[in-house]
Amino acid sequence: MIKTIAVIEGDDAAPEAVRPTIDLLKSLNIGLEFVYPIVGEEAEKQTGSVFPDVAKRMIDNADTTFFGSTSGKSGGALRYLRWGKQTYANVRPCLHLPGCASPLRDPDGIDFVIVRENLEDLYVGCEGPLGDLAPLGLVGRTIGRPVHELGDGRYAIKVITREATERVVRFAFGLARKRRNQVTCATKHNMLRGSDGFFLEVAREVSSEFPDVAFDAFIVDDFACRMIREPKRFDVVVMPNLYGDLLSDAAGGLLGSLGLAASGCFGDDYAYFEPAHGTAPDIAGRNIINPTAALLSAVMMLDHLGFAREAVRIRDALFRVYADARDRGTGALTPDQGGVATTTEFCAAVAAAL
Ligand code: ATP
Repeated sequence: MIKTIAVIEGDDAAPEAVRPTIDLLKSLNIGLEFVYPIVGEEAEKQTGSVFPDVAKRMIDNADTTFFGSTSGKSGGALRYLRWGKQTYANVRPCLHLPGCASPLRDPDGIDFVIVRENLEDLYVGCEGPLGDLAPLGLVGRTIGRPVHELGDGRYAIKVITREATERVVRFAFGLARKRRNQVTCATKHNMLRGSDGFFLEVAREVSSEFPDVAFDAFIVDDFACRMIREPKRFDVVVMPNLYGDLLSDAAGGLLGSLGLAASGCFGDDYAYFEPAHGTAPDIAGRNIINPTAALLSAVMMLDHLGFAREAVRIRDALFRVYADARDRGTGALTPDQGGVATTTEFCAAVAAAL
């Protein structure tokens, strides 16, 4: 079974994590084919467009895409992968790898997943000068007067639709059924009654379709506190886009580094995979980026493509490298984990453990 993966290496330090990850996948010899759509600055030089049609076709024709993070001109490709491909559920596992440098005293057993709505909320990209709202005469519920009268300023629109909420919450429940049968919803429904309140209302409705899965809900600030104090009580946590963005980075911090946080974005017809971290520009060119997030994203991708056995092999190899570090000292880990290894050396250790 040949599967084609479109690889977009991304910007700054991202390619330094993506390339060895792809090398490791190639070494599995399981019939994976890799194609490399040219996007961003390089594509602009060659074709005049940062996201030419040929790149789009390569993504369309591939079974999935592996995406390093972008800081700039490859953003067009990212927009296509999200909004073009309607990948509405951003899945961000928060799994403690024994041996990694978590700031918590007892992180063993942390294993929850944030499912972040990926396409709307404040990310619909509708912002502008407050004065533009004057014709609408919108009166703020808390301020009790038209918002445009507040003076020189900007607005951003938060959109929560029934359709997008239903599908992401159903996705979360489906995922919980494969895990520990528990879904938590985190919203700011006490303040944002009309929007987040609606998200929660729809989530409650959807929960009745899954009587075998436990459902609870927290105000998102309360959830943030509980995520740190009692992370082991959570299984699948579903939330609107912005909170999911913020809290999954915070969860990466709980585990010990953004370099450990994997992610996959799923739609009904397409999924793509990317480490949850950004492009780490401050460490670009130094060969010290932690590739664990990229490798764990590749594990998710292998699972998605039907290579469950190989996914487990890579995950186990990673576990082994971290466990060895716990037993013999963290030297073999990358600097974000207190080690002195380069990305290349770390990947060689994972390959050896394979
Ligand atoms: P974005 O806005 O795209 O999410 P960001 O501004 O949050 O990006 P990141 O690129 O995620 O920034 O980096 C934040 C910090 O975490 C930086 O100091 C970076 O070096 C560090 N970091 C991120 N990813 C890794 C990694 N894989 N290995 C080591 N350090 C990392």
